[in-house]
Amino acid sequence: MLIALNERKEYVNVAEKKWSKDELKVIRKETVFECPVCKRGVELKIGSIKIPHFSHKKNDLCFIKGEPESEYHLSGKLQLFQWIQKQQVDSVYLEYYLPAIQQRPDIYFEQAEKKVAIEYQCSTIDQKSLLQRSRKLQQLSITVQWVLGAKKVQRTGTNTYRMTPFVWLFTMISKTSQPPKLIVYCPVQKSFIILHHIIPFTSQNVLAISEIVHIDSTNYHSLFRKEVSMQALYANWFKKVSRFRLLPPPFESSEVRYFNSLLYTKKQLPIAYIPTLALLPIKTAYLIQSNSYIWQTYILLYIDSKRASFSFRDITREITRKINERRVKIRYLPHIKNMHFSYTLKEYLSCLCSLGLIRKGKDGEFIKVKDVVWTNDPHQLVESDEWTKQKLLHLSKF
Ligand SMILES: [Zn+2]
Repeated sequence: MLIALNERKEYVNVAEKKWSKDELKVIRKETVFECPVCKRGVELKIGSIKIPHFSHKKNDLCFIKGEPESEYHLSGKLQLFQWIQKQQVDSVYLEYYLPAIQQRPDIYFEQAEKKVAIEYQCSTIDQKSLLQRSRKLQQLSITVQWVLGAKKVQRTGTNTYRMTPFVWLFTMISKTSQPPKLIVYCPVQKSFIILHHIIPFTSQNVLAISEIVHIDSTNYHSLFRKEVSMQALYANWFKKVSRFRLLPPPFESSEVRYFNSLLYTKKQLPIAYIPTLALLPIKTAYLIQSNSYIWQTYILLYIDSKRASFSFRDITREITRKINERRVKIRYLPHIKNMHFSYTLKEYLSCLCSLGLIRKGKDGEFIKVKDVVWTNDPHQLVESDEWTKQKLLHLSKF
């Protein structure tokens, strides 16, 4: 932590630029510091790697967990604090202790009667504590904005990222019809990295459009409002599809193994030959955890088994059955409210309508227009991928 109390019970912010390291060493000799939360003595650490900070004495347990803090976390927290300080806010505090809930958000500020806490999270904590921390702040009518340390997100290729279930808890949505986004901060680059339009390809691999925003070129309000077009995502998505056809991912889970054998039994096709219609970029696909092509193929197989028409309820029932059989998994995101995987299914069916496989009939019925093409001809698949990409790019303009 960067704040402690001196003997006169004054707050000392060790990160303020007023002192050099030598001056701090003198202050350290002359002052007894205590933790503002538990009132136990703390030590002022002045090393060569980490920025100067306070630390509880070994074996001293504070009410507030979170130590030891890494240099990455300490400097990121400080940069975010100084960033808010430069903005027009009524008041801003670093490590502001809230005794009522025994929490100390990294940064707390008030602006036009709005109370905001920024939590900069660089280490993995369990989902329960994370949600509890948000809930308690909300009880005090404080809006909590989580910013994840950039180290937590792993880039796996151009526009592809690996996101663990923990990272998923930091995603946010601005509109229910849009894919989620994620804002991370890197204190080394002094930049926010925004992942826009996150669409999962497999359960942990996602496509997104990244934008790097230097901390000095944005403010709190515009950062969270930034939007970009989805056009680039479609092109990247279909690059991913061609790689998938050449080199399908290993069968990493029982879901994929089961899927593979079912596909072989029903259509005598390997996984790399699934129709393009089972490889569509669906904006709300994040609500389902299983690889996108798995649940999309299950829907196509269902449509295939119907002679003329089916209803939205039939599809929901079919996927619910797969969920109960553990062939499809839902992504549990308790921080995103009022969303349900049925939105994903609805969006998928609507996409199949746009692509001419089915059309809407009366009373929520869908009517088959064409049969799904299952083929082992690679040229036909490549053509179909390209046609679908062009069609989606065209449709996304409107
Ligand atoms: Zn303490």
